[in-house]
Amino acid sequence: MLSPAAKKRRQSIVDACRSMNALGINQGTSGNISLREGGDMLITPTGLSYDAMTPEDIIEMRMDGKVVGGGRPSTEWRFHLAIMRERPEVNAVVHAHPTYCTTLAIMERGIPPIHYMIAAAGGDSIRCAPYATFGTEELSTNAIQALKGRMACLLAHHGMIALGADLAGAMWLAVEVETLAHQYVNCLQLGEPPLLSSEEIRNVADRMANYGRYSAPR
Ligand SMILES: [Zn+2]
Repeated sequence: MLSPAAKKRRQSIVDACRSMNALGINQGTSGNISLREGGDMLITPTGLSYDAMTPEDIIEMRMDGKVVGGGRPSTEWRFHLAIMRERPEVNAVVHAHPTYCTTLAIMERGIPPIHYMIAAAGGDSIRCAPYATFGTEELSTNAIQALKGRMACLLAHHGMIALGADLAGAMWLAVEVETLAHQYVNCLQLGEPPLLSSEEIRNVADRMANYGRYSAPR
């Protein structure tokens, strides 16, 4: 039996999954979400529609990859777990195949500093990790590399990953990254857009930290 608090945390994952369609960041049930749970990780199960998902369906995994209590985790559990292990400041991971992020990822293009909001992802670019087959250790390694110093990345010919200190933060950033991707794809129809300097992005990042305006609603 789950405690009321544990049930609530698992329900927040189910709710976030269901909100992905309305937020425009999901394609079918390709999205998956994980949340740090003490020393373990909670993650969405594989092959279950969001409508049918209940808190009891959410899988708990140990940091060594062992499933607690049974069930099958999302096929992408490897990179979720690797991120939780490598990035202690991250407590939530959102992975999805939103159309504009994936369009750029198919072209093996990251997002350059076209708009100051790119600073919300932790730097002056959102990198695109080289392609590797879904669910593999290689994909996990490539994602960790692309996420160095960043809270989001694209995955070539696949989709995107957004990180957060909490689930609301990761969901917020996922929407911001898809918005930047949409804007960049539009710009590319007109030509190569002019870019902001790295110095200006650092300036923006400082201001964001000071004002606390550009962060997820809490
Ligand atoms: Zn995927």
